[in-house]
Amino acid sequence: MSAIALDRCIWCVRTHDESPPSKAEHIIGSALGYPRDASGQAFALRSGEVCTDCNNNRLARLDRVLGDKFDLPRMVAGVGDDLKLLRSRWNARAMRDETGRLHLAVNNGPGLFDFEVFGTIPPPRGDGRDVYFDRAANTVEVALGGSPLFSHAVHKMAFEIFTVIAGWEAALSPRLDAVRGFVMHDDGVREVIVASPPAGEEHPYEHRIADNMVLHADDGSVRVAFLACGVFFFVDLSEDQRALDEVKRNIREQRGDENWHWFPNTAGRAFRARFSIHATT
Ligand SMILES: [Zn+2]
Repeated sequence: MSAIALDRCIWCVRTHDESPPSKAEHIIGSALGYPRDASGQAFALRSGEVCTDCNNNRLARLDRVLGDKFDLPRMVAGVGDDLKLLRSRWNARAMRDETGRLHLAVNNGPGLFDFEVFGTIPPPRGDGRDVYFDRAANTVEVALGGSPLFSHAVHKMAFEIFTVIAGWEAALSPRLDAVRGFVMHDDGVREVIVASPPAGEEHPYEHRIADNMVLHADDGSVRVAFLACGVFFFVDLSEDQRALDEVKRNIREQRGDENWHWFPNTAGRAFRARFSIHATT
């Protein structure tokens, strides 16, 4: 395995003569909290598998899309040192003080509400940035999707997980060019399926990536399933995403329409991911 020279970027397919190698690319960025493998190492691509240009530009931008979507959940979980004070959500504020203690305020509405630490916070305004607090379950809910690059960012994670598990040479297969074109250049429309643990269960913010969650199916599809930021993602990396219909059918049989969805979509049904709060004031 070490005999292979990783002389080409899996994203732009340029050789490192054309675009120098990046040291490492973390599949889930530091702001979201690195997933670890069994030996405690951060789950990352090897040096040379991605070039500096892709890593610093397009891939970094996609990492920021996820960092923004999961801003409140990762703050509640104590993950991501870049975030000490969250004011960018309309009806919620969060802060980590010097001792690391979390202060969280959510106004579920309908009127204005005064909070001791944060002052007056407006009610939800009915868009994708709203936060909901469930006092009985001690959870917060945030909407996923809504960003034009959300599916791209999830495909980025899925393709890089595939690369770690199936190998750099497998990732360079022309059969995966459709994924490269979509993630890097917005070519086409590709869906991802998202799901939460059922209501009533714990909703930890966590990542889980395992070898057996990449599947080469008999129908030629390459399916990647993983848990990132407490949300279950399913991505079909094959060109025509032929597995999607069947997977949607299976999930609908098990769950009805609850706690799962796909992006992008025009159905207008919101998907809210739920996160347990463990230490709050
Ligand atoms: Zn590149």
